[in-house]
Amino acid sequence: MDMTRIRDHMVEHHVVGRGIHDQNVTRAMRMVPREKFVDPGFEEFAYEDAPLAIGEGQTISQPFIVALMIEKADLDAGDKVLEVGTGSGYASALISRIARHVYSVERHERLALQARERFERLGYCNIDVRVGDGSKGWAKAAPFDAIIVSAGAPEVPAALKEQLDLGGRLIIPVGGGEEQRLKRITRTGPATFEEEDLGGVLFVPLIGEDAWTAAHPMYT
Ligand code: SAM
Repeated sequence: MDMTRIRDHMVEHHVVGRGIHDQNVTRAMRMVPREKFVDPGFEEFAYEDAPLAIGEGQTISQPFIVALMIEKADLDAGDKVLEVGTGSGYASALISRIARHVYSVERHERLALQARERFERLGYCNIDVRVGDGSKGWAKAAPFDAIIVSAGAPEVPAALKEQLDLGGRLIIPVGGGEEQRLKRITRTGPATFEEEDLGGVLFVPLIGEDAWTAAHPMYT
């Protein structure tokens, strides 16, 4: 199978074709082999615009949504970025091809270790992965130019807002139930934030101290 051609087709059809024009994002998507971030046996489905199971009841997100979140984070080459919810590692890998450094937090140890191995194998050496509760952010590495949360929170966790640099952007799905609203929170001053609604999305829950509890109905 010619993965480069299939990947280019996915970018043209599902990403550019649906309105994502940020060249940083489309270049990164043409570069990162999504088939290396899915479970063995699922490679042939890697370039469909759909989430796929990755174990632990979690998913690698749909490529279009990942592209949208990264585009809305408005990344620059010098940026330091936090991703909450490493999962397969695919979104962190894309961000690492655009930004200076990525800090990525995942609550499931197996997923975090697997993502770290994938980054090493691909030679993506500007990503640090930690096992833990990303609803508390990553205080030691803060402040961040951007924070992307790849799981749905009941409310915007205070720690994530606090860990944004001035002008920093936080992209996060927020809301009860299975569907959330994708929000962009921009830090406009030491204690001021601007909030925008980017539309409806569907994410697995963010489970943590400043998020849903493990008793969430979708929790497995
Ligand atoms: N970005 C991922 C990718 O590219 O494959 C997909 C993320 S998946 C939709 C959401 C991830 O968030 C899951 O792996 C889940 O275990 C993780 N997660 C949920 N709550 C978390 C928390 N409080 N801290 C860190 N990770 C969390």
